[in-house]
Amino acid sequence: MSALILDGTKIASQIRAELAGEVMAMTASGMRPGLAVVLVGHNPASEVYVRGKVKSSEELGVYSEKITPPVESTTAQLCEIVEELNRRDEIDGILVQLPLPDHVDAKRVLLTVDPTKDVDGFHPVNVGYLSTQRPGLVPCTPAGVMEILKRSGIPVAGRDAVVVGRSDIVGKPAAMLLLNANATVTVCHSKTHDLPAVCRRADILVAAIGRAGMITRDFIKPGAAVLDVGINRVTDRAEFDRFFADNKKREESFAAKGSTLVGDVHPHVAEIAGAFTPVPGGVGPLTIAMLMSNTVKAARMRRGAKQPVAV
Ligand code: NAP
Repeated sequence: MSALILDGTKIASQIRAELAGEVMAMTASGMRPGLAVVLVGHNPASEVYVRGKVKSSEELGVYSEKITPPVESTTAQLCEIVEELNRRDEIDGILVQLPLPDHVDAKRVLLTVDPTKDVDGFHPVNVGYLSTQRPGLVPCTPAGVMEILKRSGIPVAGRDAVVVGRSDIVGKPAAMLLLNANATVTVCHSKTHDLPAVCRRADILVAAIGRAGMITRDFIKPGAAVLDVGINRVTDRAEFDRFFADNKKREESFAAKGSTLVGDVHPHVAEIAGAFTPVPGGVGPLTIAMLMSNTVKAARMRRGAKQPVAV
C-alpha cells in the first residue's frame, strides 16, 4: 500500500482562504492587520523568502511594509528600527529576517521585538507561553507541522512522536507542540545513540536536521506519519541519482535547472510510511501560511478584535 501524501500546498491554501475572510472583516472594522519585515543587506535566499512573505500579505489584504537597512547596520541601529515598529499601532507583526550579518547581535535584536508583535514566536516570552500552554505566538514552521497533522486527521494524543533536531526555531517548538497535544515525545540530535532505532519507535516522525535524505527506510516504523521539515538543494549528479534515479519528472526539472530540492527524508521512505510530506510541497508552504495566521492572531490579541480564531 502506498503512503498518503500530505499535501502542504493544499492545506496552506485552505488556511489562507479562512484567513482572508477574517482579514476582510477586521479591515472593515478599521483594524487591518499589518506586518513589517526587516531585511538587512542583500542575502539572495533571504530576499526570496521576504518576497514570498510580502506577496502573501498582499494577496490576503494584510498591510505589509519592507524595511531594508544596509548590511553595515549596527546592532543598536537595528534595535532602534525594531523599537520604532514596536511603537506603531498599525504594525501588528514584526519579522526580522534571519540570518543577520555576523557583526550583529541577533539575539539582542530579536529580544527587542515586542512579544505581542513577535510573529516568528522566537521571543523568550512566547517560548515561555508555549511551554506553559498559555496563548501566545508560536513559531511558524512547527505550527505548520501541527496543522498538517490536524487537518489530515492524524491522531497525536497518546502516540509516540520523535523529533530529530533540537533547534530553537523548529525542533524544540515542534517537540513542545506535540507534547502539548499529548504525544509521548522523544527529541533527538547529533549525539543521540542509535538514531534509526529511536526513530523506529515513532508513530509520528518529524525530521528537522538539514541533511539531505538522511532519514532512510530503516528509520521508519511501517505506517508511521513522516513530516519532513528539511529543505536541501541538490546540485551534484551522483547525489541526485541517490534520491531520484527512477523519477522522470525530477530528472526533467534537474536537467533544466541544474538543481532540485530534497528534504531530510529519503524519498524512498514513501514505500514504508503511512503518510508523508513531500519536498517541495509539504511543510514548506505552511510556513508562510502560519506567518499570516500569526499576524492576524497578533492583531486580534493586541487590538481586541472579536472574530473567532480560524487557525
Ligand atoms: P539547525 O539549527 O541546523 O538544527 C539542526 C538539528 O539537527 C540540530 O539539533 C542538530 O543536532 C541535528 N542534527 C544534525 N546532524 C544530525 C545527525 N547526523 N543526527 C541527528 N541529528 C542531527 O537547523 P534548523 O534551523 O532546525 O533547520 C532544519 C532543516 O529544516 C533545514 O534543512 C532547514 O532548511 C529546514 N527548515 C525548513 C523550514 C520550512 O519552512 N520548511 C523552516 C526552517 C527550517 P545538534 O543540536 O546536536 O547539533
